[in-house]
Amino acid sequence: IVDSHIVFVPVSHHHFLVMVLLYDITELKEIEQMQLDFVSNVSHELKTPITAITGFSETLLNGAADDPTALKEFLKIIHQESQKLTALVEDILSLARISANAELKTDQISLFPYLQEIIQTFKPEIDKKQIRIFNEVPPAFKIVVDYNKFRHVVNNLLQNAIKYNDPTGSVWLSSTQFSKTWEFKVRDNGWGIANDQRERIFERFYRIDTSRSKQTGGTGLGLSVVKEYVAAMGGTIKVTSQVGVGSEFTVTLPLIQKRKQDSGVKQA
Ligand code: ADP
Repeated sequence: IVDSHIVFVPVSHHHFLVMVLLYDITELKEIEQMQLDFVSNVSHELKTPITAITGFSETLLNGAADDPTALKEFLKIIHQESQKLTALVEDILSLARISANAELKTDQISLFPYLQEIIQTFKPEIDKKQIRIFNEVPPAFKIVVDYNKFRHVVNNLLQNAIKYNDPTGSVWLSSTQFSKTWEFKVRDNGWGIANDQRERIFERFYRIDTSRSKQTGGTGLGLSVVKEYVAAMGGTIKVTSQVGVGSEFTVTLPLIQKRKQDSGVKQA
């Protein structure tokens, strides 16, 4: 795609130099299109819960509230949709923060207790589904990483491994150090991801469209945020998976993070 400008430069009273300037604006147009797509996706995703909340609250106000069964059922839907809205707004804010605050922190972390602390926050879900989580990281393993960004990554991968898994399923967290990089793996024996979906799950708003996935709440933004955080930390993420067997997400990060600033977060 080319944009052009014509410039007339007077050389003398009777002569003009005509300059035609051509710019390649392909990349600009693509970015513009991506932003338009993003805004239209966000608006669509926001509208769905808002429509439900508006509709059900109106029905209640118009008299349905007098019926105790309807009252309870509709309030439950309104509550669920509000929670969806909250999750969506949080994900969108995370995405906005990545571009706004690209600064990378370098924090010294002892990985095993760091993970134990995150696992604790999932206790209600783990207990409900009786999922077993194995922290197989060597107890003495220390790393330098952006405390909050990496926490977000672990949180999302762990949440998916629990969510897209049958009750009594298992999740394994492990880590390996190489000469210049280190690896963090989240493996589960859950539902798995089909070959043709595997690359798409990192796209914004992409959710695998099965009735089982639909039953679990989600925005389809989780893994796109994870991918952007990993890239911000100079790393990569890949997934191997088999339907009905399980999935394994591998995050590879540089051992030495470019030092910019300590985030001030101290490990308990
Ligand atoms: P969300 O979980 O909000 O739908 P994500 O971006 O985190 O969005 O994930 C995108 C899709 O990838 C999910 O809808 C789910 O179908 C699939 N997925 C992610 N992690 C796993 C996993 N560990 N096992 C099976 N499917 C997964």
